[in-house]
Amino acid sequence: KPRILDDEEGGVLFLSSSFSSSASGYGFANIEKQRQRLPVYKYRTAILYLVETHATTIIVGETGSGKTTQIPQYLKEAGWADGGRVIACTQPRRLAVQAVASRVAEEMSVKLGEEVGYTIRFEDITDADATRIKFLTDGVLLREMMDDPLLTKYSVIMVDEAHERSISTDILLGLLKKIQRRRPELRLIISSATIEARSMSDFFRSSKKHQGLESEDLGPSMEPAILSVEGRGFNVQIHYVEEPVQDYVQASVSTVLLINDQEPAGDILVFLTGQDDIDAVVKMLTEETQNSRKNSSGLIVLPLYSGLSRSEQDLIFSPTPRGKRKVVISTNIAETSLTLEGIVYVVDSGFSKQRFYNPISDIENLVVAPISKASARQRAGRAGRIRPGKCYRLYTEEYFMNEMSAEGIPEIQRSNLVDCVIQLKALGIDNILGFDWPASPSPEAMIRALEVLYSLGVLDNDAKLTSPVGFQVAEIPLEPMISKMILASSELGCSEEAITIAAVLSIQSIWFSGRGVQKQLDEAKLRFAAAEGDHVTFLNIYKGFLHSGKSSQWCHKNFINYHAMKKVMEIREQLRRITLRLGIVLKSSEGDMQVVRKAVTAGFFANACRLEPFSHNGMYKTIRGSQEVYIHPSSVLFRVNPKWVVYHSVVSTDRQYMRNVITIDPSWLTEAAPHFYQQQRQNPM
Ligand code: ADP
Ligand code: MG
Repeated sequence: KPRILDDEEGGVLFLSSSFSSSASGYGFANIEKQRQRLPVYKYRTAILYLVETHATTIIVGETGSGKTTQIPQYLKEAGWADGGRVIACTQPRRLAVQAVASRVAEEMSVKLGEEVGYTIRFEDITDADATRIKFLTDGVLLREMMDDPLLTKYSVIMVDEAHERSISTDILLGLLKKIQRRRPELRLIISSATIEARSMSDFFRSSKKHQGLESEDLGPSMEPAILSVEGRGFNVQIHYVEEPVQDYVQASVSTVLLINDQEPAGDILVFLTGQDDIDAVVKMLTEETQNSRKNSSGLIVLPLYSGLSRSEQDLIFSPTPRGKRKVVISTNIAETSLTLEGIVYVVDSGFSKQRFYNPISDIENLVVAPISKASARQRAGRAGRIRPGKCYRLYTEEYFMNEMSAEGIPEIQRSNLVDCVIQLKALGIDNILGFDWPASPSPEAMIRALEVLYSLGVLDNDAKLTSPVGFQVAEIPLEPMISKMILASSELGCSEEAITIAAVLSIQSIWFSGRGVQKQLDEAKLRFAAAEGDHVTFLNIYKGFLHSGKSSQWCHKNFINYHAMKKVMEIREQLRRITLRLGIVLKSSEGDMQVVRKAVTAGFFANACRLEPFSHNGMYKTIRGSQEVYIHPSSVLFRVNPKWVVYHSVVSTDRQYMRNVITIDPSWLTEAAPHFYQQQRQNPM
């Protein structure tokens, strides 16, 4: 992988912007000056006043204006964290939580994890007594409500990046509105990069009408305040392609090279969709850099997606050395969650990875789909941070004008709701359809979710959480199907194996990625491949890793991502503690893989598929919805095509591909979920 930052020219670092480096030894005064230069600074007093006097304040401000890093500090300086209280700031993305928390800790000259901390799933860098400003994912805050329904330790909760409308943000907004009625002293800040503030404000305003409250004389006004922070983005010139692009990976590479050849200094930000296409572009550009004697040797090519290690993240934020040009190849995360200084050119593929759920077929897909106009504008805006910039759209102007939708669809309207339903149930919200949503999910999706949860034994006939299974599943911070697998494994005597599988399924991939290593990767996979499928293969890898003494060389030799394996170990350790707390006895099946497969089936029966008889191309159909699916090429069962399988997830490209697949015996399905497979037509609710 290209890590060219520590290059020979080193030593002289120039600051590509008005901003100094995070890593440098600039003194306190300098940081203070930087903070004062951010657009949000002018609004400091106004923000504090509005928060003081209003239950809810909506703040709209351009990306990079300082909302996320500054507002929590202003609140703390104004005393909102006094008396043991905590200021929370949520983000939809884990990587953003980490990056922003470390930035704020640095600005405040404190050690991360003390006064300023963060929590993401499986990683809690806070101190129960010392932490005053806490960054966390919206999903983690939802989980905290299970122990503390009124979130009593927080004085102010800032729901950041609200325009993204992630599923957890929407659930959170609905719940916070409820909490506010019980805790009028709680202050909410909803912050967003786009002007959709009006509908947010209507949403929070309706709570007053709801209960016919008059504005009180004493407490804060229940009427939401709206504040718009004026940014100072520079002009961005938009370029479109003339003909539709066939391959945006290839087109991104040539556009970057073109910019590098023809345009003056300034960093480049490329928006792609995920680790696969990002790694591909990084590799192609790096090869170009190494082979060419021309300009492109001055390129520093860096990937940006979730799952990067700490040091990889730091490179993204380091200033570009003199005479070099940084090219960051990113997912949607750089659209609004993270601001990179020094970007002058943006290349926009026009796509992002999005979840889509179809309640009829009952398949949730991860799809590379066109972005909205709103997203395209945000992406372009990233080029105008330090001076006038340029945005190269890899789609035609005609397409932008006539085909792109104006806004994205909130995630809750395109997701499987199993997770969402169980969380609300665990919080005692029984009437889920009647819940006060910022955007209502579809009733079909809701009914599907209730049905699956009923079949998992998580909900009873009255749609209440069952005891103990329902409560235990809700308690484990994993997808309900994985949690159910763990509970089932306890009875089947293979819980040691189940938590290993669960840990591996919680991270993106344990394989080393990158094009061009495919052959070696496939060979490495064969060394661990189990006839039973991917889950058992994971167990083999885990065993091998332990056997090697958790060696990084061993990982390297076997094309396994060492960083990912360390993460697996950490997550597994946490799952071990959680399961012990739930009274699950950890036991290994000592090589009996049949029980392991049964445990997987107990959780994932709803994802069962059968190979089409006489299929020559490996076509499967889902048992439930008769949908066409295929085994993903990354699976050890690719081309093996056993007759019956269950899968963990589906991704769509040219076809719908099942990722992480394991063979089953069909009789286990009716055993695991008699209701689901025998009385299919009957609706339990
Ligand atoms: P907003 O939330 O309004 O988009 P932020 O508070 O995230 O703005 O960013 C304000 C400034 O802080 C930006 O100039 C950004 O570059 C800088 N910044 C934020 N995070 C980091 C980081 N991890 N390292 C260096 N600079 C950062
Ligand atoms: Mg922000």
